[in-house]
Amino acid sequence: MSDQKTIEYYQLLEKLNWALSSTGEFDRQAYIVILRRICELFHIAKGETEFYRSPNHEKNGEGECFCDFDNGHGDKILVRRRIVTKTNAVVIGTLYVREDEPPFSQEDIDRVDLMLRVIVSFVSRRRLQNVVEMLGYYDENGYPNLRSFKRFLDIKAEERGLYGYTAIHYNLRHFTLINREITREKGDVVIWNHFNRIKSIIGEEGIVCRLGGDSFLAAFLNEKTEAVLQMLGGVPIAYDDSGEKRVSVSACIGVFVMPEGYSPNSGGDIMDKVFPASQAAKYQEQGTVVYYSDEMLVQKDRLMCLQREFPRALENQEFYVYYQPKVNVDTGEIVGAEALCRWIRDERVIPPMEFIPTLERNTDICQLDFYMLDMVCRDIKRWLDQGRRVVRISVNLSRKHMVDPDLLEHILRIVEQNKVPHKYLEIELTETTTDVEFKDLKRVVGGLQKEGIYTSVDDFGMGYSSLNLIREIPWNVLKIDKSFLPVDGDNLDETTEVMFRHVVAMAKDLGLECITEGVETSKQVGLLRDSGCHIAQGYHFDKPLPVEEFEKRLDHPQYRI
Ligand code: C2E
Ligand code: MG
Ligand code: MG
Repeated sequence: MSDQKTIEYYQLLEKLNWALSSTGEFDRQAYIVILRRICELFHIAKGETEFYRSPNHEKNGEGECFCDFDNGHGDKILVRRRIVTKTNAVVIGTLYVREDEPPFSQEDIDRVDLMLRVIVSFVSRRRLQNVVEMLGYYDENGYPNLRSFKRFLDIKAEERGLYGYTAIHYNLRHFTLINREITREKGDVVIWNHFNRIKSIIGEEGIVCRLGGDSFLAAFLNEKTEAVLQMLGGVPIAYDDSGEKRVSVSACIGVFVMPEGYSPNSGGDIMDKVFPASQAAKYQEQGTVVYYSDEMLVQKDRLMCLQREFPRALENQEFYVYYQPKVNVDTGEIVGAEALCRWIRDERVIPPMEFIPTLERNTDICQLDFYMLDMVCRDIKRWLDQGRRVVRISVNLSRKHMVDPDLLEHILRIVEQNKVPHKYLEIELTETTTDVEFKDLKRVVGGLQKEGIYTSVDDFGMGYSSLNLIREIPWNVLKIDKSFLPVDGDNLDETTEVMFRHVVAMAKDLGLECITEGVETSKQVGLLRDSGCHIAQGYHFDKPLPVEEFEKRLDHPQYRI
């Protein structure tokens, strides 16, 4: 090799080294120019690199191949370098020459080999960065993960500050039901299509990542908020290629609008804001959006305080049973009552809506329910011993009990201990939404029924109603929620009235006893009578009463109608 050629080779090699090891952006154009010149110098026809995640991937031919130079005549291998990196990835570099190319001197082979090693080690570094990116910033299904989210915020905070951005956390609603309806595989397709749809709304200046299951975290510019919230309010998402088969997907969303000068101490700071907000959204009505506010944190503290105080309050017997009569609308006679819990603390009566949702976040509610059942049984036993007229009393049981395999025994133990005949008891359960609960619910209701304890579907029509729930489980009573009852002043709104009549008719068809909750006016009593629903519970007759008041009603069990 001539001296001049040698000098040029070393100059090019130095440039190549520099181009490939510089910490800035990789200058691909410069790299190609250098490579091409070295190849010309040595009459190399083609240069190729292959990358495999592991030797196994290599064996199965599952990798990538890059060709950076090819003059169309490379048919004979000149040198081939294969390296296995510390992370077990395989990189192979190959240089080709023309078939009729005269043989290379050992010196020239060593030189092109050196060049090839520089390139191979560069490719392995660079490709590994991509793999690391994929492994570190995406989950196994290809969704960006929490680390991606944090990195996005770090970059934006550095670039322009976070003012002008909104972060949200949301859970898709009823996804267990959707999976049950269309199968889990198609459910996955729905989630993926949902993700792409929201990503396209959010655009380049934002990110959406999946935390697992139906839980997502996103950040985007404020001007996108309206479109994002509108989409999450509920849109049909396709799960087949033709786009014909679709399910409606909506979410409960916690929103945090980043204020001026906002700089989070850590990525976790944003989570501390959007999570409580989305939790609050979950416990509210359908399809809700809750904006984070400092007041919310105060509320959260209150809830935690309540959870802390619960065991002592239970021990101190601060919980009382109030009874709300159930009245026959044809005769005005008391035919039953619902036991409702009141927490009396420092002479303030705390209604259940203020503490039950909190107790339902863990299993505290179960303890309270058993306590209530015990109190009710004691009252019934006392009334019986006193020779009073006794009516059937219904007790609410939270859905949280459904997974307890010993629930039935536990209920029966309390009832037996108090020696209460089963016919005086009714258990109210609300509608259910998940697979597991449905199965458990069936078992529990069947078991109670066998024991002669009545069961009722509470709040029918309020949640995600499923007629299967009514048909497949042997209930005794259907409690129609007050939302089915037309409100006076709406001139007994026609559609609601028609629906109400249908629900009553359906209950009768299925052989269920039927009662309507929240009856407040005599006009509504008239509608009940007219539709064939004979039992009412509501302020029109009485609010939930302390036990002494209720006993007076039991002694004079007739309302004026
Ligand atoms: P629920 O079981 O559907 O009880 C009926 C609720 O409607 C009661 O509210 C009752 O006071 C209210 N109500 C009755 N008549 C009327 C009316 O005419 N108009 C209106 N606007 N409301 C009426 P309360 O006592 O605040 O209870 C709320 C919910 O708390 C209950 O709904 C039940 O789900 C839950 N709850 C109460 N006590 C217990 C308990 O011991 N255990 C469990 N797990 N849940 C309970
Ligand atoms: Mg109830
Ligand atoms: Mg109810």
